[in-house]
Amino acid sequence: MSKKNEYNLEWIKKYSSAEFENEFTYDGINLGAVYSADNTIFKLWSPFADKVIVNLYQSGDINSSDKIESYEMNKSENGVWDYQVNKDLDGVFYTFTTIFGDEKNEFCDPYAKACGVNGKRAMVVNLLDTNPKGWEEDVNPNEKLSYCESIIYELHVRDLSSDDSSGINNKGKFLGLTENGTTVNKEGKIKTGIDHIKDLGVTHIHLLPFYDYGSIDESKEYDSEKYNWGYDPVNYNVPEGSYSTNAFDGKNRIKELKETIASLHKNGISVVMDVVYNHTYDEEFCFNKAVPGYFHRIDENGVFSNGSICGNDTASERSMVSKYIVDSVLYWAREYHIDGFRFDLVGLLDVDTISKIREGLDKIRPNIILYGEGWSLETKLTKENVDLAVQKNVCKLKDFAMFSDDIRDAMKGHVFDEKVKGFISGNTENVDVLKKSIMGMPDWSTSPRDVINYTSCHDNYTLFDKIRLCNEGISFEDAIKQNLVAISIVMLSQGIPLMNAGEEFLRTKTDNEGNFVGDSYISPDYVNSIKWSNLEKEEYKKVYEFYKGIIAFRKAHKLFQLEDFKEIEEKVSFIDYEDDKVVAYKLKDNKEEIIVILNASEENVKITLDEGKYNVFIKEDIAGNDVLCTLEGEVSVAPVSVTVLVKY
Ligand code: CA
Repeated sequence: MSKKNEYNLEWIKKYSSAEFENEFTYDGINLGAVYSADNTIFKLWSPFADKVIVNLYQSGDINSSDKIESYEMNKSENGVWDYQVNKDLDGVFYTFTTIFGDEKNEFCDPYAKACGVNGKRAMVVNLLDTNPKGWEEDVNPNEKLSYCESIIYELHVRDLSSDDSSGINNKGKFLGLTENGTTVNKEGKIKTGIDHIKDLGVTHIHLLPFYDYGSIDESKEYDSEKYNWGYDPVNYNVPEGSYSTNAFDGKNRIKELKETIASLHKNGISVVMDVVYNHTYDEEFCFNKAVPGYFHRIDENGVFSNGSICGNDTASERSMVSKYIVDSVLYWAREYHIDGFRFDLVGLLDVDTISKIREGLDKIRPNIILYGEGWSLETKLTKENVDLAVQKNVCKLKDFAMFSDDIRDAMKGHVFDEKVKGFISGNTENVDVLKKSIMGMPDWSTSPRDVINYTSCHDNYTLFDKIRLCNEGISFEDAIKQNLVAISIVMLSQGIPLMNAGEEFLRTKTDNEGNFVGDSYISPDYVNSIKWSNLEKEEYKKVYEFYKGIIAFRKAHKLFQLEDFKEIEEKVSFIDYEDDKVVAYKLKDNKEEIIVILNASEENVKITLDEGKYNVFIKEDIAGNDVLCTLEGEVSVAPVSVTVLVKY
């Protein structure tokens, strides 16, 4: 078997040549196994193989030797091998074997749509048989929302339900997201799970990776100690087995995921899928068994590029890798009705691949939202003149937003230096960056549609933990005040707001010794789970009500969802104030005038208003669409708090 550094370096060199691309780029849409009741056609792309075999099995378990039959495949155009079996193969498992000289590799189909336990064998599947009732009528409930009207809630499948207080039956499973009517500890009136998220008012749930990943053993019983975020892809086009109720049954995970998506849609919530095409679980990725070393960026010495810090950057600039990524995204959009995609480390992928995805999705359904981490990372491209999808190239992409580290760090301090404070803690060093971000205009953006505004996500410390780390000895009450200023900045800025699940009631991640955990990717459930019982405490509930209120306020005012810079420049202006710890701005169109005052200072601040009466909607720890009071002349804003007024 090919091991790292043992790939044929002559081939690696050839893959990057124009001749190879011309001869071996296949543009058919039928790679993998195409099922019908009469026959199944298998196709595998493997230009340099001497022989390719398709093996049929009864079981999906790699440890059982229940082979039905093996067939030698036929070499056809552009390096593709094919074979047709004239039988109904629904539910039959299969692998491919490639032979290069005396080297033999058996592996799972890179285009597998279904698989057995732990994703070692693919399964032929009649997908019609996996559709829940009414699937044909299932639609994105927020199809008509513009980009900047979306409000995204980032969630891990397990975190929602794994704590006992969730009151959810299907703990850690996709189906946990389908349970309505759940309450804290199954008693009382405090909503949990999906009812809670609905009540909060977000429009999209963005789920951390739920394709089949490699780090959880699916053959074992659920174990609260064995946890992973899932950024380690094995089968890109198959749902993760550990989130299903039966990982051995190839159809079960597909059915349950579709059922979950349909249920979320019925609850008015769109679904964003976190996708990780920038690296694979390991170098033994099945695509490399078909075309040794093709899938990754490997230099002339056989060394893997490592911009992802995961050891194996994907060579998206190669035609058949690019096609693979595009095919995969379009498949999820079509087959699973996914409403948006969040691309992990998209700065490692090339602009052309992302553009092809955009074009393809636009033909499937309007308003599928796309965004990703456009960080600039060191990677060794296999070709020259390749543009990467980094923040500064956002101008080369249509409707692809990037996470804004500008707003995140300007407001709460640097994420990798826990002691550094941001605006909410009174550090005004980056107040200019903050102001640009409020306008949806970080230096790299060309439109508010390019910008994801957030204060925290699954990475790094939770917002509440970060506030307490950089403000040593801060009281619980004072930390809450900073937290409310932070979410106010996110929700009252131009761009697309995103929040981390549980942030709305002071999510914290602590280990057994009470230390804050900054990187919880393999931490047990007790670190990562959402602790619903906190909602029974008045101070947490109050924070939740504030989040809910400010989301409702954002939604009620189009002035926070402007779609281009020209409009923003016309309608949004800053109000001068002598102290940088106070950022105040006015949003005004021919319908209304809104004043936002963010006070990060320890002082009470007074601001003179223009002539006329103003209704106050947000003040200290209360936010929403109810008028709290009406005033004129002057407004007084409490220390570390936000006030929002609308002209009467
Ligand atoms: Ca898996």
